[in-house]
Amino acid sequence: MFYNNFDNVHGEDRYGMVGKTGDGFRENCRLTIPCYKCHQQPLIIAERNWMDTNNDDSQRYQIVVTCEHCGAVDQFIVNEGREKRISKLKYGHQRPSEQELE
Ligand SMILES: [Zn+2]
Repeated sequence: MFYNNFDNVHGEDRYGMVGKTGDGFRENCRLTIPCYKCHQQPLIIAERNWMDTNNDDSQRYQIVVTCEHCGAVDQFIVNEGREKRISKLKYGHQRPSEQELE
């Protein structure tokens, strides 16, 4: 019973965090995108680094991902220049979306 309650509280906290900052690309989340090196899924979000404030006041972030299988590192930008614009992966040349978050 106690553990169930704890899980619920934790879930609400996580949801609240996502809503506050506008995108779901969080550290330790998995993206179902194949690695540019070994072509296996998933990629794990290793770092989320704040970069800058855009002209529309949205916050630009660098997202660093690593392959779970071979450890290859790739990166992309969230809110690139304006809110909701996502850059392609630097090496994978694929554009991640929140639909690919596990
Ligand atoms: Zn790989």
